[in-house]
Amino acid sequence: MALRAQARVNLAASERNAAALKARLAPGVELCAVVKARASGHGAVPVARAALAGGATRLAVATAGEALELRDAGLRAPVLVLGALSSEELPVALAAGAEVVAWTEGFVDGLARAVAAAEDVGDAPVDVHVKLDTGMGRLGTRSVAEALAVADRLCARGSAMRLAGAMTHFATADGDPEFFAAQLMAFGSFAGQLREAVGPASPLTVHAANSAATVRDPASHFDMVRCGIALHGCDPMNADPDDWGLEPALELSTYVAAVKLALPGESAGYGRRFISDRTTWLATLPIGYADGVRRDLSDDCDVLIAGRRYPLVGRVSMDNVTVDLGPEPRVEVGEVAILIGRSGAERQTVEDLARRLDTINHEVLCGISDRVTRRYHRDGEPV
Ligand SMILES: *Cc1c(COP(=O)(O)O)cnc(C)c1O
Repeated sequence: MALRAQARVNLAASERNAAALKARLAPGVELCAVVKARASGHGAVPVARAALAGGATRLAVATAGEALELRDAGLRAPVLVLGALSSEELPVALAAGAEVVAWTEGFVDGLARAVAAAEDVGDAPVDVHVKLDTGMGRLGTRSVAEALAVADRLCARGSAMRLAGAMTHFATADGDPEFFAAQLMAFGSFAGQLREAVGPASPLTVHAANSAATVRDPASHFDMVRCGIALHGCDPMNADPDDWGLEPALELSTYVAAVKLALPGESAGYGRRFISDRTTWLATLPIGYADGVRRDLSDDCDVLIAGRRYPLVGRVSMDNVTVDLGPEPRVEVGEVAILIGRSGAERQTVEDLARRLDTINHEVLCGISDRVTRRYHRDGEPV
């Protein structure tokens, strides 16, 4: 049955993407599946399971609440919360048994207090990753000395916390190669110092690479890579996922709810932005900006129906869009219409839409709203 707006996610593709990423890594290097923001709209829990089946051994999210959601679903793999945690959010992260990121000594002290105050936390120490800001300019300390002091403080704080890793994040993994190389160099040097300081008795997981760095430069892999967008089969470089052997996992579709003839001078949609200059057939598709089809795509998007490509015409409205089918009535009510995905030989990728919107694939995916029904399958077999 067609639904007014649905996102079909092929978990077999997610699994193969994880395996393809894992295959790029040297033996022993771990793949951490980043499933923040509901795995960019794909669904955190199903994508996490698929990634683990494909060779990921760890998970990461942005928030404490996201970590708890994975635990509540029964996932047992280590979960790292990448984002900042306020004192209000820390107990949630601890309840989830999550690993956390630190870059100030004050945070370590606060974490120690939160661990002491937590009732539902087991005996296992909280794993903490020290973050050095090598150029992203957001979270982390810019000072190697402070990062080393944070690591020291963690070790001195006894058994409630454990120094588990060291990390940084690249600002230009998909761009400026010189800045990327400088960040990589700075982080490599810090990681070496830290390993020396803590000694072989406490093994560290050193990690820096997101999807773009992972496909770009094996020197950025260290002990683990953190991949999000590539798991979904999208191109970390925002061009074409085929370039990296990645398989888009998500298809966004709707159906033809109405077909009508427009005579010259007749219009469709708000503001009469589209006025036909000929006799043509119009299809109305029940999907709109409340579903994540951005209004900026008005007059600037294609829709695939039965293997053919048609232009979206007029304004994208909240719940509907219109498509110009041309003078031949080739399309019938009820036919499936694809916004993201394939139809016959035609394909429209997330990157195609991102380019039209002057944004990146992440934002297009995160914009697919809750109103869009998610359906899961494995290569066509419902799960
Ligand atoms: C989101 C995020 C990632 C994953 O980035 P992708 O581009 O989706 O691979 C990795 N590391 C950190 C710190 C992040 O915030």
